[in-house]
Amino acid sequence: MDNDEFDGVFQELSCIPADPPAKREQCYRCRRPKTVCWCPFLPREPLDVKSSIIILQHPGEEKRCLRTAPMLEHSLPKENFLLLKGRRFSSAVNERLKAVFSSPNTVLCYPGPEAVDIETLPKVNENNSGYNVIILDGTWPQAKSLYANCDELKKIKQIQINSDGASEYVIRTQPTEKSLSTVETAALALSILEGKPDLKDALLQPLKALCSFQLAHGAVTHQSKEFLIRSGLHKSQIQYCLS
Ligand SMILES: [Zn+2]
Repeated sequence: MDNDEFDGVFQELSCIPADPPAKREQCYRCRRPKTVCWCPFLPREPLDVKSSIIILQHPGEEKRCLRTAPMLEHSLPKENFLLLKGRRFSSAVNERLKAVFSSPNTVLCYPGPEAVDIETLPKVNENNSGYNVIILDGTWPQAKSLYANCDELKKIKQIQINSDGASEYVIRTQPTEKSLSTVETAALALSILEGKPDLKDALLQPLKALCSFQLAHGAVTHQSKEFLIRSGLHKSQIQYCLS
């Protein structure tokens, strides 16, 4: 990088206002500022699926800046989505969870030693009902503690999604390079189990939009991002910078 280029980047960074505007109008649905609302990227109608997504969310997850579970909530039919928050889950406290825990069609996304590759499960078709896919939402230590605190979860068949590699769109830091965000996990699981690749694309539209907003409207611009990359910052740190 020559001096002029460096000056250019520096000038760009220094033009970023130190204080964000005092009050920004919020979207009532996604609860994000209206300028970076991803709601227009949701499917027009709830997606047609037989399987359900059940998210067991650690309370710490709600405080994080990038939450992707609401994207699922607004993309799937109400009867195909359940989000419960807590540190300990039991079928005794929720009727829907009771049905999920006792169903033979329930699977848990969890990378235990017995986990099977999701691709090996029979696909949903007109002769069978859909799956209940449980996702533990939180950091990896939070997910592990949710699992450890629930004996009923330990009886459920574990599945693993072998995606092509690192998350394509994740802006926040992930526990490992191969970790996926909640919406990506659900999108891949549903598209594989239902045998409909289109589901994945539809479910990931809001996440793609959110990532491009972060780049376009965030405190760090495209040019500055290039600068950070050339300065040798690790990819995950850049992702963190942009969150
Ligand atoms: Zn919105």
